[in-house]
Order: sequence, then structure tokens, then C-alpha cells
Amino acid sequence: MTGIKEVSFIAKKITRKYSLCDSCLGRLFSKKLKVSSNRILGKKLKQNISIRKKCYICKNLFDNFSPYLELMQESSSSYSFSTFVVGAILKPSIIDRDDFIRSKYQLRGIDSVKTDITREISKQFARKTKKTFEFLDPDVTFTINMKEKTCHLRSKQISLQGRYNKIQRGFSQKQKSCENCEGKGCRVCDFHGLTIYDSVEGKISKFLFKKFGGTIAKFTWIGGEDKSSLVLGSGRPFFVRIQNPNKRKVRLPKTVTIDSIIITNCKIISHVPKKPLGFNSLIEMRIITEKEIKPYSLKNLKKLLTNPVFVYENSGKRSEKKIFKIKYKKISNNKFNLVINAEGGLPIKRFVKGDNVVPGISQTIENNCKCEEFDFREIKMITNN
Ligand SMILES: [Zn+2]
Ligand SMILES: [Zn+2]
Repeated sequence: MTGIKEVSFIAKKITRKYSLCDSCLGRLFSKKLKVSSNRILGKKLKQNISIRKKCYICKNLFDNFSPYLELMQESSSSYSFSTFVVGAILKPSIIDRDDFIRSKYQLRGIDSVKTDITREISKQFARKTKKTFEFLDPDVTFTINMKEKTCHLRSKQISLQGRYNKIQRGFSQKQKSCENCEGKGCRVCDFHGLTIYDSVEGKISKFLFKKFGGTIAKFTWIGGEDKSSLVLGSGRPFFVRIQNPNKRKVRLPKTVTIDSIIITNCKIISHVPKKPLGFNSLIEMRIITEKEIKPYSLKNLKKLLTNPVFVYENSGKRSEKKIFKIKYKKISNNKFNLVINAEGGLPIKRFVKGDNVVPGISQTIENNCKCEEFDFREIKMITNN
């Protein structure tokens, strides 16, 4: 016996004992017969059988998915998206009965009732909303809880890149996390992980939340600066991922000014680079010396161009930073300006003091130095193609 004959025989045997709906019965054999519609196959197999009882497996769940479709529409009403995927949490009893039938009749290699339910709901939702079902990388993921009759939606994060300038002193780069959740997101911080928005991070986040919605904004900065530093030139590059955004396609202006922070060229990108990116910074420092600056002592600063500077961290990590350019100008007996072009990530204050940065400015000019203030004139990314 092969094909439809064999199938009809087993189907009769099953339906004699268990009443099954068209979808559940069809599902048991559709793969074997290479039929695409479980429902049509089920109907065909039940031609001469009348079943009045509820489906043993699904309790006639397949008859009406509209309450779930409504839940999906409700939960997605504030999201714009084009592709979706559906997951479901079923009552365990449905899965148990499905497993029982499959093992009792030794039906292997067939879809589970859960697979069929999510597929059917996806099909109906796509038809109703003109959205596209996409399994691999959908914009939004629905999780329908059939036990509790709820629907949870999660939207795929979006990544952006941009640059910022800081034209006034007094803003930190990073924002302190919400104290209640340490940045994970909670009711206190409206799931943003932040409660105050007075830093570069805070101001950019606030702007992005207004444009895209979403919960948490995770930044990757290309270097950092002091609260009192300015960031000039073309600005400091940053990357940011916005979790659970409501909108995914927003046109952003080329320049956005928020108080003293200017965001430029902010745009959506496919993903944030995984490897740390190299960059060079042109930095201007105002340095105070302990003793009077001796004539010619500043000339020694040029020595810093010959060898890289070693930076030692408490963790035991050591790194090297090259300095490419040095310009200095004496301002008074114990004050001078220094402009350097250096490999990104050089800790400026420690470099000036000579605090585990060797050689530091203090050692180089044999005079204890302190960096009063430093500004970034330019930050250049190194593209290593
Ligand atoms: Zn059923
Ligand atoms: Zn919180």
C-alpha cells in the first residue's frame, strides 16, 4: 500500500477513535503526500466520516484565529514594520495530545500542531495587514501566549552612526544609568535605562527616542573626552543601537542642534562594526607647570615623536600610542599650550602628569605638569581597507 490509499486507511483508523479537525488530520499526512494545504487534505480524508465532536488535539483552535489576529494588531499598532514572524506559547495539554497521537500512530517527520498554528496565524495576519512573513530576520517578532490570551511584540534593533560636536563645556559624554535598574530598563525610567538626559549620551538618546521610539540606546563611542572638553572639527564619531524601535525608516536632518551638542550625518546603517575602530585625534591642551618653564625645555617635547608612548592600566594591560605631531606655545612662566596629533585612546590627563603613561609630559620637560583643560580639534577615523 502506498500513497493516498495507505493514508486513508490510517486516517480512518485514527478518526474512528479520535475526532480530529481538518487541519490536524491533514497535517498528519500532508508531508508524506506532498500536499501544501493541511485543511484541504484533512477535508478530503474525512469525506465519508462525520465528526461532530471537538478536535481531540486542538479543540477547534483552527476554526477561529481572529482573537489572536486582533491581539497582534493591537500590540503592533504603534510600530511601523514590513516583515514579521510569529511564535506561540500553547497550552501544554494541546502539545501533549499532539505528541500522543503522533507517537501512538508512529507518525514521523510531520509538523507539530504548534508549527501549524503559527504558520496559519502568520498567513492570516499577512493577508489581513499586507505585511510579509519572514523567518530569518524579521522587523518584528510576535509571541502569542494562548494560555493567557496575550501577545508580546519585540522589534528588531536598528543601528545608526553619526558624529557630534560639543561647542560648550560642561557636558559629560556618558550618562549615569537609572539607579533603579542600572540601565537595564524599568518602569521608573520608562524602560530607557536613563532618568536624566543632560550629557551627550542623554541628549542624543532623547532625540533618537523622539524620532524612532524604542527602549534602550546603546552607544559605541570612538574615543571620549572630559566634561570640560570641547569637541570641534567634524566631530566625534559614534555608533548607536536602539532597542525595540517603533519606527525603522526615519529621515534625519543632516544637522541637529540640541543645546550645545550638534549631531551631524546621523544615518541608519546595517550594523555596528564589531571590531574596535582605529582613529587619530588632534588635541589641544592647556598645561600648568609646577616650576617656571625653563628656556628651551619645551623643545624636548619633540622627542615624543620618535617613540610611541606606553600606557599602563591597573589591570596590567599595556598599550602603545603613537604621537604624530607636536606644537607648543608658552603662554606664561608656568603655562603653555600643546597641540598633538595622536593615536586615539591616549588618556590625556595621565599623559600630561606622567601617571602610568611613559614618557609623560612631566618627565619629558622635567617639570611637574597638570592638564587644565583639553579640547578635540579633530577626530579622524582610520580606514584600513
Ligand atoms: Zn485540530
Ligand atoms: Zn530604570
